[in-house]
Amino acid sequence: MTRPQSQPEQPAADALTARIDAHLELEAASLLELSHRIHAHPEVRFEEVQASAWLADALEARGFAVERGSGGLPTAFRASLDGRGDGPTVALLCEYDALPGLGHACGHNVIATMGAGAAFALAPLMSELPGRLLVIGTPAEEGGGGKALLLDAGVFDGVDAALMIHPEHVDQSNMPTLASFKWDVAFHGKPAHAAMAPHLGVNALDAVRLAFAGLDALRQQVRPDVRMHAIVTDGGAAANIIPERAAMLAVARSADAGYLFDDLAPRLRNVFEGAALMTGARLEIGDSSPAYLEMAVNVPLEETFERHARRRGRTVTPYDLQSRSGSTDMGNVSQVLPGLHAMLAIDDVALPHTAEFAVAARSARGDATVLDGASVLAGIAADLLTDADLLTRVHQAFHEATGRATP
Ligand SMILES: [Zn+2]
Ligand SMILES: [Zn+2]
Repeated sequence: MTRPQSQPEQPAADALTARIDAHLELEAASLLELSHRIHAHPEVRFEEVQASAWLADALEARGFAVERGSGGLPTAFRASLDGRGDGPTVALLCEYDALPGLGHACGHNVIATMGAGAAFALAPLMSELPGRLLVIGTPAEEGGGGKALLLDAGVFDGVDAALMIHPEHVDQSNMPTLASFKWDVAFHGKPAHAAMAPHLGVNALDAVRLAFAGLDALRQQVRPDVRMHAIVTDGGAAANIIPERAAMLAVARSADAGYLFDDLAPRLRNVFEGAALMTGARLEIGDSSPAYLEMAVNVPLEETFERHARRRGRTVTPYDLQSRSGSTDMGNVSQVLPGLHAMLAIDDVALPHTAEFAVAARSARGDATVLDGASVLAGIAADLLTDADLLTRVHQAFHEATGRATP
C-alpha cells in the first residue's frame, strides 16, 4: 500500500539532526568520560549503585526531572523532559550492569552512554519539539530481568516507543533473540557417612547427575532452535558425606515462547521430577529471574535506525530471523510496546561475554560507537516525536507482530 509522505511541521529533519550532532559534539568529552568511568567500576545486576547515580545526576544537570528507585528497584531511574506541547512519549533505555568476574564484557557502559548521549543531545531541543522524552535506567539485564520487573511495576506505562542499541561485532537493526527461562533447581536428600553407612543416605548429588543425563536425552527430542544449558551450583559438602543438598541452575531457550513455556517447560520439569523420584530426593524448583521473551520485529523502527546509522557512515547488514540467539529482557519490552534493540559494532571479531569484548567496550572504536549510537538514537527519537505518520506505522507494525493493542 502507498502512504502519503509525512510532512513534519517543524523543524526540518535534516536541520534537526545537524543540531543534534552539534550538541553531541559539545557533550562528547563528558559522555566518553562517563562511559570510561562506568567501565572502570563494573557493578553486577541490582548492585549498579554508582552507574545509576552517575547517569541520573548527569541527566538532572541537563534539565531532566529524575525519579530514582523507579518501580521499587533501587538502581533503576526514570528521567523525563517535556517538550513544547502534547505529543508522543519516547523512551531511551540505559543498561549498565556488568558481568560477574568479567567486568563490562557485554559493553553495557556503551549502552548506557549511547542512551544518555542521545538525551544530552536532545535536551536543548526539547523546547521546540512536541511530546516527552524519557530516559529509563534499567538494571540487571544480565540475568535479573530488570525490564520485566519495571514493566510489571508500570514504569513503561504511557511510552509509545522504547529505544536502545547494544554494542556488537556487526551493525544490525535488530538483535533477534530467544525467549528463555532460568530455574534454580535444588534436590534435598539425607546425609550419611559415605563409607560407614551410605545405605542410610539419600544422595542429592545423584539426582543432579541424573538430571543432567535426562536433560541431554531431552536435547535430541526438541526443536532445533532450543538451547538448554546448566551448571552445578551445589555439589555437596565433602566426598565422605552423602550429599544432603545439591543444586543446579538450568536455562532453556526457544525462538517460540509458546513452545518454550507450554511444551518444553513441562518436559524439563519431568526430567527433574524423574531424577528426584529415582533417588528419593525432594525437588525444589524456583524461577531464578523473570522469563525473557523473544525480540519482536518492527520494520518501520528498524528502517529508521538504518537511515540514521547510514547518516553516521555505518554499514548496516541484514539480520537473519532464523538464527535467533541469546536473550534479553528488551524482548519483554518489545512484546508490550514498540521497541528497538539494534546493534552497532565496537569490534569486528570479539563477541559479548569475552575479555576481548570488555577491552573493545572502552577502546577508541568503542568510543566512536558511543557517539554514533547517541546520534542515531537521538535522530530516531526526534523522528518519532515529530513525524506522526512514522509513529502510526510503528504502532501498526507492533500490533501486527504481537497481536496486542497499540499503546
Ligand atoms: Zn550480556
Ligand atoms: Zn548485553
